[in-house]
Amino acid sequence: MAKIAEIVASSKRPTFSIELWPPRSPESEAKLELALPVLEQLHPTFTSITYGAGGSTRERTHDLVLRIRRETSIEPMAHLTTAAHTKSELVYILKRYLGAGVENILALRGDPPLNGDAKLAEGELAHAIDLVQLARTVGDFSIAVAAHPEGHPDSPDLETDRKMLAKKLELADMAITQFFFLADFYFRLVDDMDRLGISKPILPGVMAPVSVKTLERMAQLSGSKIPDQVRERLNRASGSVEAVKAVGVEIAIELSEELLKRGAPGIHVYTMNEASTTVQIYEGLGLGR
Ligand code: FAD
Repeated sequence: MAKIAEIVASSKRPTFSIELWPPRSPESEAKLELALPVLEQLHPTFTSITYGAGGSTRERTHDLVLRIRRETSIEPMAHLTTAAHTKSELVYILKRYLGAGVENILALRGDPPLNGDAKLAEGELAHAIDLVQLARTVGDFSIAVAAHPEGHPDSPDLETDRKMLAKKLELADMAITQFFFLADFYFRLVDDMDRLGISKPILPGVMAPVSVKTLERMAQLSGSKIPDQVRERLNRASGSVEAVKAVGVEIAIELSEELLKRGAPGIHVYTMNEASTTVQIYEGLGLGR
C-alpha cells in the first residue's frame, strides 16, 4: 500500500493526479467505463474520488474506491466529509476503508445541509480538522485536506482562513486546492503557509472550464474568481461545444505550465470524468515524454 502524501513529497518529477466522481446514472456509469482505461494509461500518481456531503454517494464512493484499488494500477484517495455524518458513522467508514486496504483519504467538511441556526450535537464533528484528528485515532492513514487559494467563502477574511488551514495542515499530510485561474493565487497561499511554518505539499487543483454558465455556478459555491480574460476567451468560443472545450483545455494547460515552472509539486486535474480533456492536458504539458 502506498502513502500518497509520501509519494508526492518525495517525487523527483512533478506528479500528475486526477479527481473522479462516482457515477450517478447509467449514462455517467457508461462514461466512466470508457474513461477509466484511458486515464489509467496516463499512469496518474493517484486518483481522488469525490463524496456527496449529504451522504448520498456513500456506497458509490466506497465501491469506486475499492474497484479502482482492485482492478486498476491507480492508487485511490477516498474523499470523506464530516457533513451529515455522526462521529460513529465516520469511524465505521474509516475502519471499513482500512479493512479493505485503503489508507489514503481526503478529509473534508463538505457543505452541511444544516440551516444556519441548527446546532451540531455535542461531540459531533464540525470541521475537516476534526475528521483529520478522528482518522488519526482510527488508523495509520495518509491524510489530505482541502485548501482554498482565494479563501473559503465562509471565512470572515483571508488571514483567518489561512490560520485555520495552517492548523489543519499541521495535523494532515498534504493539501489539494480548490480550482483557480491565476497562478499567483496559488503561490500566495504557499507563501502564507510557509510564513505560518507549514511546508507540506500543496497540490494545485486545475480545471478545464467547459462553459461560462457551469463555471459561474461552481465559482459561486467555491469562492473562486473568474478572471475577465477567462470569461472572454470562453465567450468568444461559445458558438460550438468543441471550441469551448478546446479553449478550456488551453486555459488549463497555460495555468499548469506556469504552476509547474514556478515550482508547484504537481497538478491535480478535476477531470469531471472526461478522459479526452484530461489526456489533452497531460499531453499538452509534455508529461508523457
Ligand atoms: P473546513 O476546513 O472545515 O473549513 C470550512 C470553513 O471553516 C473555512 O471557512 C475555514 O476557515 C473554517 N474553519 C476551519 N476550521 C475551523 C475551526 N476549527 N474553527 C472555526 N472555523 C474553522 N465537498 C464535498 O461535499 N465532497 C467532496 O468530495 C469534495 N471534494 C473536495 C475536494 C477539494 C480538493 C476541495 C478544495 C473541496 C472539495 N469539496 C468537496 C468542497 C468542500 O467540502 C467545501 O469547500 C466545504 O465548504 C469546505 O470544506 P473544508 O474541508 O475546506 O472545510
